[in-house]
Amino acid sequence: MALSDTVTLLDCSAGHRAVSLSTFKREWKKYCPEIMVSKPSTELCWLCEDSNTKIQRSTNMATKVKQHLIENQSNHLTAVTTERSLYNECVRQAKETINVE
Ligand SMILES: [Zn+2]
Repeated sequence: MALSDTVTLLDCSAGHRAVSLSTFKREWKKYCPEIMVSKPSTELCWLCEDSNTKIQRSTNMATKVKQHLIENQSNHLTAVTTERSLYNECVRQAKETINVE
């Protein structure tokens, strides 16, 4: 079955029945496994993603818990900034050493 056939199958205005999202996804995988939805691209590292998720979900938690989560993320960001500065400095020195412009 081609993609256009699948879309027609799920087109309610053409008199076909509506399907749930899970059914749609299952049928999509069945008939068009080569077409995938790309995952959102992000520049965040795993730690940042994990920390941000925990901070977002901490709305109803105790203030101490929220402070701890935010402090952890802040410490991580400080370390990342230091590492990035060191990396940039190493790149600058390497370019200077080999005289690349
Ligand atoms: Zn990070």
